[in-house]
Amino acid sequence: MKLSRILSNQADLSRQQANQLIASGRVRVDGGVCRTAATEVSRFQAVTVDDRILQPPQPAHYLMLNKPGGYLSATRDDVHATVMDLVPREFGEDLHIAGRLDRASTGLLILTNDGHWSRRLTEPVIRVPKVYRVTTAAPIAGHTAQRFAEGIWFAYEKLTTSPAILEQLGACEARVTIFEGRYHQVKRMFHGVGNRVTSLHRERIGEIALPVDLAPGDCRALTAREIQWVP
Ligand code: URA
Repeated sequence: MKLSRILSNQADLSRQQANQLIASGRVRVDGGVCRTAATEVSRFQAVTVDDRILQPPQPAHYLMLNKPGGYLSATRDDVHATVMDLVPREFGEDLHIAGRLDRASTGLLILTNDGHWSRRLTEPVIRVPKVYRVTTAAPIAGHTAQRFAEGIWFAYEKLTTSPAILEQLGACEARVTIFEGRYHQVKRMFHGVGNRVTSLHRERIGEIALPVDLAPGDCRALTAREIQWVP
């Protein structure tokens, strides 16, 4: 929200009064004087006028979870257990998921209450790589890597997926990197080449990798580096 709007709302000032107060140098954002009324201020930043706190900063949360199979990537559901059942309550009720996993899929899931940050992580144009370890029902045909690189036609959306990378690890095992996040994307890509995914595990999103010592069902806060990396 713009700084002038926060002042109008919280201090009951007209827009003009708010602008004058900001121009006078009495308003600080996170401790620094801010004289620009149009400055965008998030709810995670403190706004003060003189020494009076007008907007206390809310805590921002950035978490990774090693999602086990069987949990829905949703914040609530009447039937199934959701990933929120695995997240300690202290992180609050306002978390959302930055890039879902299917119920049976496992691995790296990121949760946050910072919508600006998660949008940058999931925005298709930013093309953050997502890396999956996949096992398949049938041996992976030799042409699969080439087909994935060319893109697979998704008839429902009437589009071709953007180039993806397949690294074959075994007859029925591969590491797949995609740069978008369409519904059931990896499973549908294998379906498109006549195969079927039997397990799917997300290892990495951009620079955020699932640590080997984070047990299924466990979560931890992201490090400053993992947060700041996001484009
Ligand atoms: N692609 C899928 O098919 N499923 C997932 O959970 C993630 C990517």
